[in-house]
Amino acid sequence: LTERLSRLIKTMRGQTRISEDNVQDMLREVRMALLEADVALPVVRDFIARVKEKALGAEVVGSLTPGQVLVSIVQKELAATMGEGVADLNLATQPPAVVLMAGLQGAGKTTTTAKLAKHLVEKRRKKVLTVSADVYRPAAIEQLKTVTGQAGAEWFPSDGTQKPRDIAAAAYEYARKHYFDVLLVDTAGRLAIDEALMAEIKELHGVLKPIETLFVVDAMQGQDAINTAKAFSEALPLTGVVLTKLDGDSRGGAALSVRQITGAPIKFAGVSEKIDGLEVFDADRHAGRVLGMGDIVALVEEVQKGVDLEAAQKLAEKVKSGVEFDLNDFLAQISQMKKMGGLSSLIDKLPSEIAAKAGQADMDKAERDVRRMEGIINSMTPAERRKPDLIKASRKRRIATGAGVQVQDVNRLLNQFEQMQTMMKKMRGGGLFKMMKRMGG
Ligand code: GDP
Ligand code: MG
Repeated sequence: LTERLSRLIKTMRGQTRISEDNVQDMLREVRMALLEADVALPVVRDFIARVKEKALGAEVVGSLTPGQVLVSIVQKELAATMGEGVADLNLATQPPAVVLMAGLQGAGKTTTTAKLAKHLVEKRRKKVLTVSADVYRPAAIEQLKTVTGQAGAEWFPSDGTQKPRDIAAAAYEYARKHYFDVLLVDTAGRLAIDEALMAEIKELHGVLKPIETLFVVDAMQGQDAINTAKAFSEALPLTGVVLTKLDGDSRGGAALSVRQITGAPIKFAGVSEKIDGLEVFDADRHAGRVLGMGDIVALVEEVQKGVDLEAAQKLAEKVKSGVEFDLNDFLAQISQMKKMGGLSSLIDKLPSEIAAKAGQADMDKAERDVRRMEGIINSMTPAERRKPDLIKASRKRRIATGAGVQVQDVNRLLNQFEQMQTMMKKMRGGGLFKMMKRMGG
């Protein structure tokens, strides 16, 4: 979690609504966090305006803070903005389906061409042909030949003496004659937006009439991504984006900028130099990355649905009125916790640095303990649950056998229960959530 957002999340505990008064400061932090993630400024402005509209009046439930609720709205909106549309390649046309790769030099077009070839061959069982229209760099044509071989696809030869449009036409003809399902066309890079090269790729688009025109963009490009994206989307009707080099340490804010500017869905993410380093783009996960945190949305939703407010209320009243807290209540607490997806699933949703501190081993143990406690209580009769004092040696043995545990485990549970009962008496109401947390060990 970025420092900014963790601070934000702790703010204004106790407020029950997001209002004009408190939203302004919070949004300033979100805006800074997005800029730090390299989302382009105009895109940030638009985005913040949308979030504000959604956030105003939002209710702050249970133990959450307005900051948590706002950040979860932000994350959801981020994911929605980046995640619309279908993920995989559209090949629904008379074969060969043509996929045209566009983007700056070094963005990862050639590498991605091979990754897509492998994906199509292995996952979609397609017969795939690749061709390079990069006539300026013979090495680039050789590069495509090598990686196409690794992908298990076929490579169509081309060389620097030919015109890109002639290469394209020849490759298409070959693909058609030999019943290829897909033709992937790699193109020349441009170091910066360049009129002549833009004209060339437009011409290629005209000749090939591709069903997919993919804009390949380096996630590390940051703020510049917006200009590149603008130029390419004005020149070509883009159908999708591939965001490469997400294995780097950038926060990937370019995704939001590119999505907003091109309007095209982000279909894939490049996650290594290797040929299998391609993933279907996961907008939810990426939203978490842009904000520098785990899945806060999921955490907030768990809390909202998991805490059975009515049951909690009843219990609080029981405690207040001095009625004994019995093992049935104890069991209800345990199942409440399970409803929230168990301890480790909650931990998974926390920002990674907090989760790391919790330690998976500890969580596993706590989880096992909770399950064991539940098993023990389930082996008791209703009378025993209401009046644990009844449980003497022979009953303990029966319960232990029933739950598949040792007598000492039953003893331990009864001790814990007794402590809890004492604590409950002291609390007389309030602090329910704290108690649930303590039960988790
Ligand atoms: P092109 O000029 O657009 O064809 O770009 P290339 O495909 O030649 O890639 C440029 C450089 O980026 C090469 O060194 C690739 O290995 C590297 N590259 C491409 N995609 C990725 C990726 O997803 N992750 C990493 N780490 N490197 C990548
Ligand atoms: Mg290349």
